[in-house]
Amino acid sequence: MNFPNTRNRALAKLNEFVGRVGRYSSNRNHVIPDHQNVSCLSAAIRHRLLTEWEVAKAPLVRYAPSTVEKFTQEVYWRTYWKGWLSLRPKVWDEYLEGIEEHSNAEKVRQGKGPVAVMNGFARELVETGYLHNHSRMWFAGYWVHVARLPWQLGAKFFQDHLLDFDPASNMLSWRWIAGLQTPGKTYLPRRANIEKYVAPTLLDPRGLELLDNPTAMIPGNVERPEVTRPLLPELEVPQDGKVLWIHEEDLNPESSPLGAYRPSKIVVTGEFLGKSKLQKEWLRAALGDVGERAGEHYDASVEHVDDLIAWVRGNGEAEIVAMRPEVGPLHDRLDSFGKSGLKLSLMVRPEDRYLRSLARAGFFGFWKKLRSRMVSGDFPTSEQQELF
Ligand SMILES: Cc1cc2nc3c(=O)[nH]c(=O)nc-3n(C[C@H](O)[C@H](O)[C@H](O)COP(=O)(O)OP(=O)(O)OC[C@H]3O[C@@H](n4cnc5c(N)ncnc54)[C@H](O)[C@@H]3O)c2cc1C
Repeated sequence: MNFPNTRNRALAKLNEFVGRVGRYSSNRNHVIPDHQNVSCLSAAIRHRLLTEWEVAKAPLVRYAPSTVEKFTQEVYWRTYWKGWLSLRPKVWDEYLEGIEEHSNAEKVRQGKGPVAVMNGFARELVETGYLHNHSRMWFAGYWVHVARLPWQLGAKFFQDHLLDFDPASNMLSWRWIAGLQTPGKTYLPRRANIEKYVAPTLLDPRGLELLDNPTAMIPGNVERPEVTRPLLPELEVPQDGKVLWIHEEDLNPESSPLGAYRPSKIVVTGEFLGKSKLQKEWLRAALGDVGERAGEHYDASVEHVDDLIAWVRGNGEAEIVAMRPEVGPLHDRLDSFGKSGLKLSLMVRPEDRYLRSLARAGFFGFWKKLRSRMVSGDFPTSEQQELF
């Protein structure tokens, strides 16, 4: 199994997957050994070893845009979720406040419940750091509606193990399964659906009868979260000569608005607290890779540091430039950076700024507008190219 942890490996995997994208829309729901019908690029995209735009346009050397539209849409689901959450950051705070241990949860996490296929998914998640999208849906549906456990605790289980853990994609998908994201819609894991899509060699039928006719846990009184944070104003790239901070939210500064920046020094940090062994290994390799690339791209020394504030104090630096972390654990720490007297100038990619403005309502309106900007060739990226 291969979840690329350097930019070159991710580009090679993307290149190889391009040959299979033509069959993506018909094959993507099938869970087969080694997950050959999906890209397994999510960790690389989530940490921006590759940008969504690079991944969306790669198949176009081979296929008509309409043939690969499903794949392009999936790639932009992440951007939509991120945009949606960045406008409503309180939803993330409420999730964190709602995580509470439950006496029945450990059995399910350890893969010791009554439905064998769900036990297999729990073990696969812990042992590989990955689950196919359909397996994530079934497992989350099982957790909420069959095992009747709190969705926040299930989302935290994924957070603690997925190599691609993304606060927005993860939490909002769990909210959707639980019936909170789209009021009136829940997702139930059904035996017939699992039997249809899980390869026979992977399907252990024990306990599947519990999924013959599951009943949804209907949440009471669902309110649509309001937009509480407006779009952030566009900032000028600061004058050259400040410290460039590279973090795990964007491991591709070369292609960002900071690509042409001339820093005095570069610091690279990663958040390792609470991560699983596999998550730490993946991140260490990816940070090593961005450090090497940054050293070549920028004419500045690169230092890997554990604690940005301590490093700043020790080095007498006060001003830092970086890409803005999206809502999630690193973003939560920005306050403490501010309180320590550190001045941060945080940049946003033009495509993120534009797509965020479209994430006020549902995905399909977002996609329609995004698609039409792509068709007209005026989609804001650092690199203009017709996609549709
Ligand atoms: C309960 C639940 C939790 C999830 N948690 C996460 C998470 O923490 N991090 C994460 O990256 N994805 C999450 N997803 C979305 C999705 O399952 C994964 O992105 C996808 O399975 C990754 O595998 P892949 O790279 O092989 O995807 P592919 O099918 O090859 O898709 C290509 C790319 O499109 C994006 N993508 C595909 N499907 C989705 C989707 N449903 N939502 C958002 N983006 C998508 C990913 O960047 C992915 O790499 C979650 C889905 C569910 C149902």
